[in-house]
Amino acid sequence: MKFREIYCNNCKKILGRYNTKYYDNEKISEILKSNHSLHIKKGHQVIIRDFFKE
Ligand SMILES: [Zn+2]
Repeated sequence: MKFREIYCNNCKKILGRYNTKYYDNEKISEILKSNHSLHIKKGHQVIIRDFFKE
């Protein structure tokens, strides 16, 4: 299964993992803006990367 992982480089923390089957890029960036905006406001480097799980 393929996931998109939202990761904060400053907090060294995974903020969320979303199955690409149910979440497209648009949905994930919406989640990023609404749920994790605090990190962005603080100037943290938040990245979205691929994550694979069997
Ligand atoms: Zn952060």
